Amino acid sequence: MSSVSRLGCIVCAGSTTNRCSSCAKAGIDILFCSSDCQKLVWPVHKTVCGVDKANPFRWPDLKPDEVEEAIRNKGHESFPSATILTVLHRAVGLQPDHFDAYIRSLRDSATFTPIEHYKKQATLSYIRYSAYHRTRDQLLHWSGDPTTSVLRCTAGWAFDLGPEVPHARDGLSGRTPVLHRILVHQTIMHKVFNEPDPRLLTLAKRTFDSLKVVIEEDLQVADLERRQQALDRLEASLSMVGRWTLTALAESSMS
Ligand SMILES: [Zn+2]
Ligand SMILES: [Zn+2]
Repeated sequence: MSSVSRLGCIVCAGSTTNRCSSCAKAGIDILFCSSDCQKLVWPVHKTVCGVDKANPFRWPDLKPDEVEEAIRNKGHESFPSATILTVLHRAVGLQPDHFDAYIRSLRDSATFTPIEHYKKQATLSYIRYSAYHRTRDQLLHWSGDPTTSVLRCTAGWAFDLGPEVPHARDGLSGRTPVLHRILVHQTIMHKVFNEPDPRLLTLAKRTFDSLKVVIEEDLQVADLERRQQALDRLEASLSMVGRWTLTALAESSMS
């Protein structure tokens, strides 16, 4: 059984065999026990749902304001002693002079060679990662448009887990199911942050528990210590949101 189906509904972990039909066509089982669970995460899941999007996980295009934001912040050190310009030059050979034109062109380019596709996907995830790291201490990533914010958090956590070691036997990657689960967990975390609700908090805890199982059992990473640190930080942010929720609920019951 795949890691996705053994853990039940991707939102509430309830036992089910209902698959997201578009994702099933892409060859990945994403289970939703009910339309309530599906609707809760649909605004974000739909951006990575279906053929050519879900499997392997494909980063959606940036919105026009994200492109301009990335250009404004291209000189910011959002990586350890490095800017997005340095990182993209190193990772995909993008010349710093071409950065603005390249990322503005990404939305229009319809046909890609495999190399161009790889370069685009790496660029989209690095730009989201840098936006996440630039704003992670300011709580900005918890407010604003949910899709933008959740995709940034997902890129941030995915990189924090560290590089993956391809499975020795068949070269398969465990990353796609992990990315879908981080996305769902972050979608619910974003909701809890903006709307304190004990039911949502329970779902945030359940999605964290399933995510932890998938990360520990299916994702073969190069650096176990780094993975553990990322999991610890993910758990700490869940506890923080939990405390806020309980405080907000206590305050609202007193007034
Ligand atoms: Zn469910
Ligand atoms: Zn789907």
